[in-house]
Amino acid sequence: AAQANTILYVDGVSVTFDGFRALNSLSFYVEPGELRAIIGPNGAGKTTMMDIITGKTRPDTGDVMFRSEVDLTKLDEAEIANLGIGRKFQKPTVFESHTVFDNLLLACSGGRGVFQALFHRLGNDEKRRIEQTLETIMLTDKRGETAANLSHGQKQWLEIGMLLMQEPELLLVDEPVAGMTDSETEQTAKLLRSIATDRSVVVVEHDMEFVRDLDCKVTVLHEGSVLAEGRLDHVQKDPRVIEVYLGR
Ligand code: ADP
Repeated sequence: AAQANTILYVDGVSVTFDGFRALNSLSFYVEPGELRAIIGPNGAGKTTMMDIITGKTRPDTGDVMFRSEVDLTKLDEAEIANLGIGRKFQKPTVFESHTVFDNLLLACSGGRGVFQALFHRLGNDEKRRIEQTLETIMLTDKRGETAANLSHGQKQWLEIGMLLMQEPELLLVDEPVAGMTDSETEQTAKLLRSIATDRSVVVVEHDMEFVRDLDCKVTVLHEGSVLAEGRLDHVQKDPRVIEVYLGR
């Protein structure tokens, strides 16, 4: 059952594409300030779940409650983004020809950053938030670097920083460490753990070493519903989880 204190409550969500049931009465909830990893084999419904939360896809049945007060299935993508739900897709999208600093500036909430960037006027509050974000994403010493010159991992961190500038309450992150070096992967786990204290972060991921580093509750999806949930070392011992991962 849903707790009163949830940031996200996916409640009995089903969706069918051409007769194929991609989500089958999917239910789970995320608490404020929680970091959650969503794992599961290909086709389990992870992407469809993200699409439902962000309003890209509408479910056939079920609700998605945000802060126990808004049903996201009644809103469109822009309205959901404006509520404070950010989504990071797998590939980094940054402004390649701009500096790291300007990328963060351009991402300031409500598009005000664009205005300020154009007129070179920056409030103290924005300045402070950009400095904080640079530190969080471990790019303080790259602030003047053109984004095109960053490594793949650094671009991913920059995009996470750009999302943070919009002050989301819930951040959805899709396979952030694909293509990263081992050291970048480790640092990304640290980064996500650190930002999940002020906001909730849901990460879809395949890389089990990385999921272990996230050190959080894991939800295992299979055939569109929750197969198991708990700490990674616990769910990894679950015979049904072993069957799903090894029996294919
Ligand atoms: P995952 O992200 O866990 O790999 P997906 O959510 O992408 O799983 O897909 C779940 C299932 O739904 C897959 O079998 C996929 O082929 C199917 N599916 C997803 N989106 C569509 C769509 N737009 N049309 C038809 N089938 C889809």
